Amino acid sequence: MARLVMKFGGTSVADLDRIRNVAHHVKREADAGHDVAVVVSAMAGVTNQLVQWCGQAAPLHDAREYDAVVATGEQVTAGLLAIVLEDMGVNARSWQGWQLPILTDNAHASARIVDINGAELVKRFEEQKQVAVIAGFQGIYKDSGRITTLGRGGSDTSAVAIAAAIQAERCDIYTDVDGVYTTDPRVVAKARRLDKIAFEEMLELASLGAKVMQVRSVELGMVHNVRIFVRSSFEKPENIDPAKPPVGTLICDESEIMEHQIVTGIAFSKDEAQITIRRVQDKPGVAAAIFGPLADANINVDMIVQTVSADGKTTDLTFTVPSADYERAHATIEKSRGMIGYERLDGATDVAKISVIGIGMRSHVGVAAMAFKALSGRNINIRAITTSEIKFSVLIDAEYAELAVRTLHALYGLDKA
Ligand code: ADP
Ligand code: ASP
Ligand code: MG
Repeated sequence: MARLVMKFGGTSVADLDRIRNVAHHVKREADAGHDVAVVVSAMAGVTNQLVQWCGQAAPLHDAREYDAVVATGEQVTAGLLAIVLEDMGVNARSWQGWQLPILTDNAHASARIVDINGAELVKRFEEQKQVAVIAGFQGIYKDSGRITTLGRGGSDTSAVAIAAAIQAERCDIYTDVDGVYTTDPRVVAKARRLDKIAFEEMLELASLGAKVMQVRSVELGMVHNVRIFVRSSFEKPENIDPAKPPVGTLICDESEIMEHQIVTGIAFSKDEAQITIRRVQDKPGVAAAIFGPLADANINVDMIVQTVSADGKTTDLTFTVPSADYERAHATIEKSRGMIGYERLDGATDVAKISVIGIGMRSHVGVAAMAFKALSGRNINIRAITTSEIKFSVLIDAEYAELAVRTLHALYGLDKA
């Protein structure tokens, strides 16, 4: 008998039939004698609708009220799943974030969990085998008592945090694909499911664009050593043989992975924008004059490339920012023009960042060079490059994103046979 967390994402609870299917999965584990805490997302599309309503009510609105609105989606699914479970004869009750409580900081709309009280859940497991159905994505700011949310995709983080709080043996993330793939299987048909992936690799994949797990959930899993298993909610509960290992991907410590491929996966993101400052004076203090104001404006700068300008005397500085911050970044640089001293500001939003990730890169040289050659073979121009220990990224024209991903996927031997 084990203690389990089971998390179901939006597509998995999209309507009452799917919620019934989820209930069967929960019953399967409860009947096997396990103590179960379930974490649910809002029904597919609901959070988007709620976010849209906030924007339509007033483009500039109080983040605390935004949270009060967008947290409601999860409340509905938690209640509905508890109703269906009870109807199936499973002892269950729903919990909202404030009821446990799940305490967070006050960064409304992207709050961080600071503490979870799992004592009542454990007591109810022990005393009455009650299944806990917890609304994901939400918490409460301890000082004000106001509802907070954890950022888009935050139910993954709720699930992993609860798993750590109740010391669950495993945190199963049930979603609409049957595991973590070498790249998004909806974009590359030849993507392969990974049996295991190291926390560090998953962290890079998630932060570089693979939305299968929220970045913070992977961070938390790594810190608290939670075994996270990504699997499909669409597998029929009655077809699952408890005697066989389930189909899915285990996110685990790298020491558990016997053989590392050089490249594990490829992520991509079209949520980037490029800014190039032309003919900047090449003198000390210029980088500070550019990036200081951007940091003050809370704009996250990612790739930075400095090249000699066409005149041979000044430099061109290229960097990327999240596309949502593009206009603001542009305006911030223009405001600092006097301090920086440049000739022209260029920009592009139709760009994509393709990232190649693998722990094996630590011990292999020339991995990135292979990619540059393969991309040039396809006539894909690279606008910027960044590298770190276990990954490198290239910025290219958005229209070539899929081609580049497919090319690199094949290049590193990731295509399935
Ligand atoms: P949920 O609603 O269950 O949280 P998400 O839509 O947030 O599900 O995440 C699942 C989706 O992530 C998949 O449908 C898939 O398109 C996408 N995805 C992106 N990269 C990957 C990857 N490397 N492996 C698996 N899925 C991926
Ligand atoms: N419902 C929230 C969202 O769509 C949280 C989640 O699904 O993880 O972002
Ligand atoms: Mg998700």
